[in-house]
Amino acid sequence: MERPILGKYIIKGKIILETGLRIGGQELGVNIGGIDNPVIRNPLTGEPYIPGSSVKGKMRSLMERLLNLDISGNKVRRHECEERECKVCRVFGSTSKEGNNIPSRLLVRDAFLTEDSKTKLLSMETDLPYTEWKTENALDRVTCKADPRSFERIPAGAEFEFEIIYTAENEKHIKEDLENIATALELLEDDYLGGNGSRGYGKVKFSIEKVIFKSADYYKGEGTPVEKEVKGGVEGFKKAIPEIVKG
Ligand SMILES: [Zn+2]
Repeated sequence: MERPILGKYIIKGKIILETGLRIGGQELGVNIGGIDNPVIRNPLTGEPYIPGSSVKGKMRSLMERLLNLDISGNKVRRHECEERECKVCRVFGSTSKEGNNIPSRLLVRDAFLTEDSKTKLLSMETDLPYTEWKTENALDRVTCKADPRSFERIPAGAEFEFEIIYTAENEKHIKEDLENIATALELLEDDYLGGNGSRGYGKVKFSIEKVIFKSADYYKGEGTPVEKEVKGGVEGFKKAIPEIVKG
């Protein structure tokens, strides 16, 4: 299968937390000092971050639902097909038993706290650096007893550096793929990231600041990257796509 790199679109900005965010290490089975669900942290710095895989996974599943794609026959309840024109699989990738994998054209980087947010969060009086505890009073569905649980979360207002990279492989798809990426971000803004979404956690805003296009020629040593400033968040990004693609 030929996969030419026609160029790369680097989309940069910030993820702004509008409500507290909890992306847990729950699945790792960790338990720190009585907190049921610690947030995931960079082991080297101890700073909480947003894994790119969480953002990408959520973008994908929202697009699958928007396009009403088939998710049956898949243990992880995810749409995956071998159709190379499939709007979801060609952007987000697909693995198949027969080995006809479609590699992802979209890369979502892990998002780390901005320097400004680090300073602000560290100046808060909290039990753990950068985060707050929130006790949620859940009812045990069987015994009807109150079951208060403490969740660690990153407070509203925190900002993270955001970067996603789309690799152009097929001239005909570029505009539509970028539009679908923007749509996925719009859907995610009206959904939630991480856990406890139904309790109001995980509302995020994407502030897209610029898109940098690096052509194949640029990587081969000719020409320069084309940078386009974006205003107006995801909506502004979506509106700017025709111009961005035209170069
Ligand atoms: Zn598909």
